[in-house]
Amino acid sequence: MRTPVVARWFDGEGDGFRLLGTRCASCAAVFFPREDGFCRNPGCAGGELVEVALSRRGRVWSYTDGRYRPPAPYVSDPELPWEPYTLIAVELAAERMVVLGQAAPGVTVADLEVGMEVEVVPGVLDEDPGEPSTTWTTWHWRPVGVGA
Ligand SMILES: [Zn+2]
Repeated sequence: MRTPVVARWFDGEGDGFRLLGTRCASCAAVFFPREDGFCRNPGCAGGELVEVALSRRGRVWSYTDGRYRPPAPYVSDPELPWEPYTLIAVELAAERMVVLGQAAPGVTVADLEVGMEVEVVPGVLDEDPGEPSTTWTTWHWRPVGVGA
């Protein structure tokens, strides 16, 4: 069973995979993580919040090695040694926002440069071998033109 680690933050498969945010119908501000309660723009009287798919591609704004345990919704077992991973902050031009995410497996900081184009791809956060087994899905960022 494949289960999103957080509900309604992303959807789709393959090239159709997208992060989902919400956009205020009044001021057009876009929120990710999605905001379904009220518009957080202090200059806005508030409007209907409509689900929108975020841009599939963005540019690396910053990146780092994750050498610490990230906060929820990242799942980690405190009993296990922490495995470092690569974390990328990606600037989405159309939404004028920065979205964090892990790099796709095999992508290290040595592969990244600020300004490099990356795209969002489906990823696996964790696998629970229980009965029934569960694959926790998430999003990853991958340099454009790398991998399949
Ligand atoms: Zn608004």
